[in-house]
Parts: sequence; structure tokens; C-alpha cells
Amino acid sequence: MVEVNTDGFLKDLYELRKIGTFKTGVSRPTFSPADMESRRWLVEKMKAIGLEGAIDGMGNVLGKTQQNGPVALVGSHIESQIEAGWLDGALGVVAGLALARAGLAVDVCAFADEESHFSGGYLGSRSIIGDLTEEEMDASRNRDGTKTLREAIAEAGLAHLPRVQLDLDRYKAFFELHIEQGKQLEDAGLRIGVVSGIVGIYSWHIIIEGQQDHAGGTTMVERRDAGVAAVRILSAIDQEFPRVCGPKSTFTTCNVKYTPGAPVGIIPGRVDIWLEFRDQSVEVLARMEATLRAIIQESNRREKTKASLICTSKSTPVLCDQHTVEALETAAEKFASGSWQVMPSGAGHDAKVLGKVMPVSMLFVPSIGGVSHHWTENTSDEDLALGVQVLADAVERYLHGASAS
Ligand SMILES: [Zn+2]
Repeated sequence: MVEVNTDGFLKDLYELRKIGTFKTGVSRPTFSPADMESRRWLVEKMKAIGLEGAIDGMGNVLGKTQQNGPVALVGSHIESQIEAGWLDGALGVVAGLALARAGLAVDVCAFADEESHFSGGYLGSRSIIGDLTEEEMDASRNRDGTKTLREAIAEAGLAHLPRVQLDLDRYKAFFELHIEQGKQLEDAGLRIGVVSGIVGIYSWHIIIEGQQDHAGGTTMVERRDAGVAAVRILSAIDQEFPRVCGPKSTFTTCNVKYTPGAPVGIIPGRVDIWLEFRDQSVEVLARMEATLRAIIQESNRREKTKASLICTSKSTPVLCDQHTVEALETAAEKFASGSWQVMPSGAGHDAKVLGKVMPVSMLFVPSIGGVSHHWTENTSDEDLALGVQVLADAVERYLHGASAS
């Protein structure tokens, strides 16, 4: 049986927490000085345990095992959201180090910019599987549009480095340990979640155009108030989606922007709504899309405003590999008998990108209070240690099973 040094694992995690500390969390946006310090820290850790570690031209950090035979890829991301938690991403990367230190044949990877500080989405994991073009990198900018990805890469001192691609023949599967970022495990009194799949996310931009005008001079009959039409659309979504969605679907109005948005005196001439919905089933996503299209159509039939619907992105759901899931289930039952469940991941992760080229799986540990993307994000040391133990056992089980078959 593989022996994981859980104390050493926790020590690494707490050490990493000291880089870019913000209150009890961290703030390590992609390519910031703190983020680069954490990447260099990771390379040193890799080298200290005998992995061949290096950072590439996209900021990805890959540490390769010297062992022969079937290899598992283990990892996550190491940058954080701004003023966010210490475990989101870091947990999966440091777990990879712990597995390598325990002697398992694993390569460890930290994929750059999972947190989308730059436009494009999953830039690091897409780059490393060969799914990111130079043109996409040229076009990518930071969130407020003040810096290009190329400029940030140059400032981070990475511009001269080539982008590394994974040798896909090398890997049996990818494993990612992650915090749940929700309350399902905690509410059920469970300690481990074996992830069945990662939801697909459909994102939309709704534009409602009316007529900007004087709030007093324009009669109620004359006016074309984009604000009222927007509220009716949002209300229809709230009423209609529950009829067609699945039990675990989520839908979110991420942002609503009134233009000109004056506090008094002006009828809004335009409203922009950014909306997304998620589910693990393509059929459910299709039903929600059809409902949304019908709501927009109905708005255009009834209102004096014009609503248009733009799909900004569609990611398809990814199912976790059956054999990796079985290995995780067996390990979970061994170390946390009766205290685990199978569940979908409502958040997107690098595993979703890796799922295009190899079998993938994910394991969740509970988030205290369900909090994530906030500096109070936390998980008990006991649950963190249990998570890495279950992961190690599953990876060993999977690699041995794979080589024996
Ligand atoms: Zn994450």
C-alpha cells in the first residue's frame, strides 16, 4: 500500500499559502509577482523530490517523473482569483507533489490561468494539449483590457521559453484533487466526493435596445424602456427554467448593465444582460437554450424594445472515466467508509480540457460553509489529509490495474 506523508503534504500547502498572502487566503493573479514566485517555488519542490521540473512559455509548470511504465498526470492550477482562497487549485498541485514523494509514477502539473485573468479560457491546459493557437494568444488580454497576454508573459520573464506539449502516449489518466466550492458534502455530512463529470456551461449576452429619453417628458405610451423589458425577460427566465432544467442545473444572471444608468431622469435606452447556465446533460442544456430563445422571441413579440441573444461560449459537459471513477470509489470506501458520494462538478476545471485527450477524474473534499473564491475559503486539515490519501490509493490502484491488464 502506498504510504503518503500527509504531514509533509500539509506542510507544503501551508508553505505555499505564505506566497501572496491576503488575510487567511492568497492573492496570486496569473503572472503577478506572487504568482511567479509560487511557480518558481513549485519547480524547486519538484526538483527536490526528483521530478524533472520546468516552467514553459505559457507559465505551465510540469514536473516529470523519472520512473518508467504507466504514468498518471496529477495537478491543477496554482494562481488564484484576486483576494481569494488558499486551496482552490493549490490543493491539486501540492497533492501531486505528495503522490510523487510517496513513490507513485506521477507527473505533476500546474496549468496556467485556470482562473481566467486573461481572455480565452483555460489557456494553460489548452496550450499543453496543443489546443491553443498563437493567434489566440495574440488576441488575449487581461480583464480590464489594459494589458495583453503577451505583455504579461514578457514581464514575467517567460517570453523566450517554448510552450510545452504533453506527450500523450505517456499518460494513463489525469487526476485532479480539488475543493468542492459548494455545500453539498458538508450538508450531507460527507468528507469525499467522487466526481462523475464536469458540467457544460452555456454563456449568453442579451442586448435589449429601447429609446433613451426624458423620464418626465416622454409619456408612458411613447416610451421604449429597455429596463422594464429586461426585468420581464429575467422574470420569465426565473419562472420558465425550473420547468425544463434538471435537479442539479444552475442558472445565473451574472451581470445586468443599464445604459446610460442615470439614478434619475433618463429612460434607459439599452440593457445588457450576461447570463449563464450549467448542467451535466447536453439534453438539459438544449432544453434550457430552447426556453431562453422562446423567451427572447416572446419579448420581441410583446415589447416595443428589441431583444437579441448572442451565445458567448458553449462548453460541453465532460464525463469522468469509468475506470478512474471506480478506483476512486474503492479508495474512498477504504478510507472514508460510508462518508463519500458520487457527484457532478458544477464548476469548470482544467480536467475538462484534459478530458479531450485522456481519461480524467476528479476528487472533492468539503469546503467549509461552501465558501470559495473568497479569502475565508477553507477545509479542515483532516479532510485535506484524507483527500490526498484517497487520491494516492486510487492512483496506485489504477496504475497497477492498468499495467496488470
Ligand atoms: Zn480551481
